[in-house]
Amino acid sequence: MLVSATEMLQKARKEKYAVGQFNINNLEWTKAILLTAEECKSPVILGVSEGAGKYMCGYNTVVGMVKGMIETLNITVPVAIHLDHGSYDGAKAAMAAGFSSIMFDGSHYPIAENIAKTTELVSEAHAKGISLEAEVGAIGGEEDGVVGSGEVADPAECKMIADLGIDFLAAGIGNIHGKYPANWQGLNFDVLAKIGEATDPMPLVLHGGTGIPADMIRKAISLGVSKINVNTECQIAFTEATRKYIEDGKDLEGKGFDPRKVLAPGVEAIKATVKEKMELFGSIGKA
Ligand SMILES: [Zn+2]
Repeated sequence: MLVSATEMLQKARKEKYAVGQFNINNLEWTKAILLTAEECKSPVILGVSEGAGKYMCGYNTVVGMVKGMIETLNITVPVAIHLDHGSYDGAKAAMAAGFSSIMFDGSHYPIAENIAKTTELVSEAHAKGISLEAEVGAIGGEEDGVVGSGEVADPAECKMIADLGIDFLAAGIGNIHGKYPANWQGLNFDVLAKIGEATDPMPLVLHGGTGIPADMIRKAISLGVSKINVNTECQIAFTEATRKYIEDGKDLEGKGFDPRKVLAPGVEAIKATVKEKMELFGSIGKA
């Protein structure tokens, strides 16, 4: 069922596990993630970046597709459709289209402007029963052309943003989008602990979940991280499986050129990745 992400993340924070946000790119991606969530009896958040939203022909198309699948596939676990790294205008458009959760990424604005815009969007979101994630401090790496420097957030600024009535907070703690460089310093748990204390009991969000070692993920969850974003890992798994299908010449056997056959191994690879993450995050059986 389609819900906001507020309740599922409050429960996760209280019971010390995390709900995965898995970004979607098309029908296969969405179906693979929804089926896995249902099979694992896990709540799930479908992340849609503005770029992926455009690719899928707009937010209305995304909402229509997800709602249709929830009905047709009998998905009973809680599902949120969440705008990932939304701009101010993107947040408004996604809310109008029926998204149940929004991230407003005002982290590139000066803190006063981030506060003003977040405040306005919180009241609009809550009037419609939509959850809102805000962000403090840049997270490293690149996402849809937005480059961050791997900054860590200031716990006092986190407290200011958390106090605006948002539902969950993304704060940079040395995490990076995309593949992690060999010289990565790891997550900054001192800062995470301070942010967790300052904003308790607000669920915290860890972006750039791909490639963070399992023990760091577990420790982050113990310190208040209740939502972990996974994107790159599903992309790599999908593409590896698809490449193997072609390299093995399967497309040349019988009707192996049928797109439903070509894409099937990639779908299975996404399912396996999502399940593995749900196990690590502890969300299985929590729906
Ligand atoms: Zn992110």
